Amino acid sequence: MAAGHPHEAAGPSPIAESALNPQSVKPLPAATDPLPAYEAWSTPIQQACRLEAERGFGDLLGRQETFSSFLARTLQQPPPDLPPAAIANLTSLAVAYAGYGELCLSRRQQLVRQLRQALHQWRVALRPPLAVAPPRLRLLEPPPAAVPSGSIGSVAGAPVLPSTPLGEVRGIGPRTATRLAGLGLLLVADLLRHYPRDYLDYANLVPIAALEPGRTATVVGTVRRSHAFASPRNPNLSILEIHLHDVTGRLRVSRFFAGRRFTTPAWLKSQQRLFPPGATVAVSGLVKESPYGPAFSDPLMEVLESAGAPVRSEAIGRLLPVYGLTEGLTADTLRKAIQTLLPSLEDWSDPLPELLRQRLGLLPLNKALQAIHQPTDQAALQASRRRLVFDEFLLLQLSLAQRRHQLRQRPALPLDPLPGGLELVSQLRSILPFPFTGAQERVLAEIRHDLRRPQPMARLLQGDVGSGKTVVALAALLCAIEAGCQGALMAPTEVLAEQHFAKLAHWLPQLHVSCGLLTGSTPAKRRRELLQDLVNGQLQILIGTHALLEDPVQFARLGLVVVDEQHRFGVRQRNRLLAKGLQPHLLTMTATPIPRTLALSVHGDLDVSQIDELPPGRTPIRTRLLRAGERDQAWEMVREQVALGQRAYVVLPLVEESEKLDLRSAVEVHRHLAEEVFADLTVGLLHGRLSSEAKQAAIGAFSRGESQVLVSTTVVEVGVDVPEASVMVIEHAERFGLAQLHQLRGRVGRGAAASHCVLLHGGNNAQARQRLEVLVRSTDGFEIAEMDLRLRGPGQVLGTKQSGLPDLALASLTDDADLLELARQEAQAIVQQDPGLDAHPGLRQALLDQRQRQLEAARLN
Ligand code: ADP
Ligand code: MG
Repeated sequence: MAAGHPHEAAGPSPIAESALNPQSVKPLPAATDPLPAYEAWSTPIQQACRLEAERGFGDLLGRQETFSSFLARTLQQPPPDLPPAAIANLTSLAVAYAGYGELCLSRRQQLVRQLRQALHQWRVALRPPLAVAPPRLRLLEPPPAAVPSGSIGSVAGAPVLPSTPLGEVRGIGPRTATRLAGLGLLLVADLLRHYPRDYLDYANLVPIAALEPGRTATVVGTVRRSHAFASPRNPNLSILEIHLHDVTGRLRVSRFFAGRRFTTPAWLKSQQRLFPPGATVAVSGLVKESPYGPAFSDPLMEVLESAGAPVRSEAIGRLLPVYGLTEGLTADTLRKAIQTLLPSLEDWSDPLPELLRQRLGLLPLNKALQAIHQPTDQAALQASRRRLVFDEFLLLQLSLAQRRHQLRQRPALPLDPLPGGLELVSQLRSILPFPFTGAQERVLAEIRHDLRRPQPMARLLQGDVGSGKTVVALAALLCAIEAGCQGALMAPTEVLAEQHFAKLAHWLPQLHVSCGLLTGSTPAKRRRELLQDLVNGQLQILIGTHALLEDPVQFARLGLVVVDEQHRFGVRQRNRLLAKGLQPHLLTMTATPIPRTLALSVHGDLDVSQIDELPPGRTPIRTRLLRAGERDQAWEMVREQVALGQRAYVVLPLVEESEKLDLRSAVEVHRHLAEEVFADLTVGLLHGRLSSEAKQAAIGAFSRGESQVLVSTTVVEVGVDVPEASVMVIEHAERFGLAQLHQLRGRVGRGAAASHCVLLHGGNNAQARQRLEVLVRSTDGFEIAEMDLRLRGPGQVLGTKQSGLPDLALASLTDDADLLELARQEAQAIVQQDPGLDAHPGLRQALLDQRQRQLEAARLN
């Protein structure tokens, strides 16, 4: 989709236009240069704006505050030399940002754009680009022949560098520069890295008369008239109809906009204005049959030239880039600005070593950037994309490889069994009622191999729910004990920590290994004892929540830390552990398998082990999809199972951010079920706000069968293990990610009885339904995770709280897996040979730039 995609109605600006008026800001006769102070103040603001825009204007929640409160605060602390007019404007901007959270998307976009533009203009006012020499002097300049034709320069005559501000480039006017600043594009490099989001393919260019229904084609024609109107039949639909002609014929193109906000007269008019009579437009898409002959509906559309201008022939016969636009910036202006910069690419240096580039058949950087903006054909475009995507992955993998290298540099205790030792792992095998699966054996061998080395293990253990990770973790902990060390097992919630403790407390005493549980609700006295026993080495295994990371927790000889459900455990917490001066071996586990590409990108500094086999004797879970209106069928199934002596979970979709809402709905649903639907049964309730004892009591009653139905929030997601539970009903399933649903339903099917999962969904969204059907079809966690990544994107798959998602402009974690693997290999080879990148100055610089960017982003994030 190109021009004419649903811009939202531009309402009255929340800030007086004067805030943006450059004339209102006069440069001060400053004794000292005010610019450094200005930049120090404005750079983090620009960074925050960029991040906010990249993340879709959701009022980003940073580590300490939200985007809007960061701005409301920072805008009131301007640098000293800003002129009074700007200060006044800042105050009104600060007020506007204080209310940012209540604004709709389009207002938010508008506000961010205004701020970016204002920042740009104040900077220009503090130091205007050197004025163009007055005409008289110009006559004295050497004749233009001295300047190589096609070369460009800045206004001041200096060469255009990646770091040149756009406002100083000859050929980009101040108005355009200000508008580009509204998109966060300040420097030459910014604009050249502002990649097209699509291309109009002129390879399929056909005259109107030759259009054939059923084929994709591009036509270039002149607008005869355009008409936007609300649909007479549907009050929420509006239609833009454009009549085009070329020398061979006429054509009608329609675009549809669903949503009441697109039916206002102002909005309709604005659409019509985008395609004025006489304008030349290109239309690309699938040709359809219509009563009026061939037609396009919702095609990619682009205004090539304003009304009356001749069609530029160079646009024909190649791929025309289509960029994301902003108000006041036409497609043409943006394309021209970028075209102006393309010649300066000649002088860009390439951070990739020539040899590597040739070996992998990658384009030089400048050629790739040139071609992404001006591809001659699909092949050139693909080649350019390949190079740029490789770069994105390479930088990511280089920094992970360096991290990994540093990690391996630290000495760790090699965990070899003490001579004449206890053989605890063998003893464990003899008391377990089952043999390890092949996958468990393999993974345990990988872990033991790592533990014996004098570098700390950093391993991620992925395995589907119920695949038996816990026993593997237990065996690993016993390896540490055999070597005379201590072990720790950390879980994301108290419920899970308590479950682990209950499980381990079953096996460990038989092996004469001591273990303790430490959580936020451990009484002070017990806590003191535990800490005491840890320091003097009496306590061998400590199980707990994040509280384990708190400072007073000191171990005598910590050998191994196991972190369960790693996806809840940020990279930051991992670092915190290391920062405690501990260099234990680290095993992290997750039952929410993430696709390999994502794992490599986010946890690329870890080795990955996979348990890809379930213990025998499990009956697969049967999953059904029901509309919310068919809920009674779900309750019937619950009754049937309970009559058979089984138990049921009812899970509510409760997003963490809205704990209060969660609580209410959980309590309400519980009341409804307990009093009306299952009045004859005992219905338990489990949610995050309950005290630890209350939670334990609810789980205890359910696992003993004293309650037969457990209404729960997603607290139940991790680790609650009741083999008699054979049904799970999930309300509002469409609000969950697939991987999370898969994880949830893993709570049933732990026993031998056939088990069931019922997904209740809102019902009117076909796409949501289709997505959920993946769960009906598949029980393979990895396959499901892949689908989730494809359908919802990496941010959603990892959860919004997880930072450390890579910055990828072009690269796709679903489509570019091969390039990711390639980049990973190369990055590891490079870091192996040259850990400090001393022999790769270009890459080192690129990495430094990226870190700087991330560091600045981290201030907010
Ligand atoms: P996970 O943590 O991977 O979800 P658990 O370690 O909790 O899985 O194991 C799920 C259940 O399977 C537990 O009751 C456990 O005792 C049992 N189990 C683990 N390994 C095996 C095995 N090899 N054979 C049979 N049952 C097993
Ligand atoms: Mg588990």
